[in-house]
Amino acid sequence: MVTITLDDGWATQYTKARPALNARNMDATYALVTNAISQGWGGYMSLAQVQTLVAEGNDIASHTLTHPDLTTLSAPQLTSELQDSQAWLLSNLNVSAVPSFVVPYGIYNNTVQGSIRQYYASSRTVNAGRNFRDTLVYELRGNDVHRAVTVATVRGWIDQAIAEKSWLILVFHEFVDGTPTRDTQYKTANFASILNYIQTRGARTVTLSEGVAMMEGRTDPDPVAGLPIYADALESGFANWSWATHSLDETGVVHAGSSAISFEADAWSGLMFHHSGVDLSLYQSLELWVHGGTTGGQSVQLVLHDGTQTLGAVSLDAALGAAIAPGTWQKVTVPFSSLGLTSGTLVDLYFQDASGGDQATVYLDDISLIPH
Ligand SMILES: [Zn+2]
Repeated sequence: MVTITLDDGWATQYTKARPALNARNMDATYALVTNAISQGWGGYMSLAQVQTLVAEGNDIASHTLTHPDLTTLSAPQLTSELQDSQAWLLSNLNVSAVPSFVVPYGIYNNTVQGSIRQYYASSRTVNAGRNFRDTLVYELRGNDVHRAVTVATVRGWIDQAIAEKSWLILVFHEFVDGTPTRDTQYKTANFASILNYIQTRGARTVTLSEGVAMMEGRTDPDPVAGLPIYADALESGFANWSWATHSLDETGVVHAGSSAISFEADAWSGLMFHHSGVDLSLYQSLELWVHGGTTGGQSVQLVLHDGTQTLGAVSLDAALGAAIAPGTWQKVTVPFSSLGLTSGTLVDLYFQDASGGDQATVYLDDISLIPH
């Protein structure tokens, strides 16, 4: 599931993000700096606008009175920032409770967290990552979508959350239609593209308080799987652009599940799996299983490509440390560190004949990206 959080109460959240959300029937969590609303700070939403957000079914979180670094405050100041902001929201908005807190700048320590626990049921940080059943609800992870974060990167986060059935919380601040001039600004059209992708992938959108409730109610074990590229078919948005003779539905030689890939690695031909873009900085390695068919010893090159240039390449036998064996499945792990690869966007994944000749059929199965 995915949560859209909008921090601070900027006016452009109402004028630019809200129409995009409403057009898609998505609720969001607005984390408000309450003095900005009550004192009418320039550039922030009005009380009437915030009341409209509540009437439309959105979730409100407290983001303190004045947005201080909470670790620098005296005990009475800390209490006031937490308690008085919540009290103001309860008395000015038509809400029965304000269970969610968002930490200014994501800066907290044990003292701050102890105070937050007295007044709130959860607290969101800007520590990057996804949330699982065992994530501390007072240290909810949120991925900051600042101006340099591409739509492709956010799509990768969404793909990863879907693959591992985790909870992704996205953090936005201001919105602009043109080119952002501050780190906290995000292009409205890119925000809409992200919302479209959430819908395309069928991810469930929840508010912060809904997400915490579902997290506590979960009974499924935490998944550990990576992002699947091929299991019994291509997954996670990968499309088949292969030009070699091949089948993605081989049922005679299968590692797990019902199908594998059979591949005639001849005359430089190849398998090519295309994606709109996977952010490789989220992953540490590529794993797959290979079977050498009747003869083994095939020469097959694995290539990660960003659509413009090669990001990394290795032959499967080099990655195995031995020739591909006949008649058996072997696991291949390609650590990205071994390719000198720490970032980049995976657009095309190739398995290509490196012999130029005629080789026996080779089989592949269970190809996935392993997260850090
Ligand atoms: Zn903030």
